[in-house]
Amino acid sequence: LTGEADGFDAAPTMQPDDAYALDKIRLESDLRAALDRKELEVRLQPIEEIVSGRIAGYEALVRWQHPERGAVSPAEFIRLAEETSLIVPIGDYVLARVCDMLVELRERGRKPLPFIAANLSGRQIDDPGLVQRILDLLHARDLPPDKLKLEVTESLVMDHARIGDLIAHCHSVGMPVALDDFGTGYSNLGPLLTLNFDQIKLDASFIKALDRPRGVAMVGVIVGMARALDCDLVAEGVETREQREILHRLGCRYAQGWLVGKPLSLGDVLEH
Ligand code: C2E
Ligand code: MG
Ligand code: MG
Ligand code: MG
Repeated sequence: LTGEADGFDAAPTMQPDDAYALDKIRLESDLRAALDRKELEVRLQPIEEIVSGRIAGYEALVRWQHPERGAVSPAEFIRLAEETSLIVPIGDYVLARVCDMLVELRERGRKPLPFIAANLSGRQIDDPGLVQRILDLLHARDLPPDKLKLEVTESLVMDHARIGDLIAHCHSVGMPVALDDFGTGYSNLGPLLTLNFDQIKLDASFIKALDRPRGVAMVGVIVGMARALDCDLVAEGVETREQREILHRLGCRYAQGWLVGKPLSLGDVLEH
């Protein structure tokens, strides 16, 4: 820097990184406040059994209604929350909400009671007390453990050695575990060789590819693989009737996506 120190120099230039860091700090403190004020909402996206058209369960997807920024997507704030310790209370909050929602569905007489799947973060996978805390939530409400499903993404599975213990612990108490976003991440088949998932969720990119013979061929192979492994297969991001039709023909059991339904508030779920 040349310029003379005359006291009227421009303020140090903001670097893009600084702006990002500052924005992150603001967002983090907003998120902390939102959690305290219960501004985080858990929405439920229906998962349909394709053959019967029956809604078998829901995936819990967290939403943050920011007072100025509007709806902030979990893709944005979950990552932020993971970099701080905020993901721990957020994760606990989502799990408790999911259990409360199961109670409401039961009280409204939904039979059979649908399952609700909750997404786990890396921190939760590493927490050896997680399963017991979930069981406490379930027992306090007299809920059967098979109605709460846990979703772990393929990339998390690759990074967390504890996943095997978590699955074993879940199975010993009757709680199912799903492999989320299958086919993305490192696209490694290794986890399926050693880990006993109850469900595989095929990433939306494969469903988009159903408009090409290559995509149809690959999804067909994955349907066969899931069947051979005795895993339920859920197609994610199903948006068109054509996609559902092809999935039906290929023998995929479940569909999730805008065609079936967007993530709904519990009130909307109870009305349908
Ligand atoms: P995910 O678990 O793979 O969830 C599916 C995402 O696809 C959701 O995005 C959902 O809104 C979106 N989606 C569903 N159907 C369609 C469709 O037909 N077309 C398109 N284009 N998108 C569809 P969302 O809600 O933005 O969540 C993004 C990710 O954030 C989730 O991906 C999940 O990994 C994470 N996430 C959401 N809630 C939680 C949570 O409570 N805890 C943790 N740890 N992660 C969460
Ligand atoms: Mg998921
Ligand atoms: Mg997914
Ligand atoms: Mg996905």
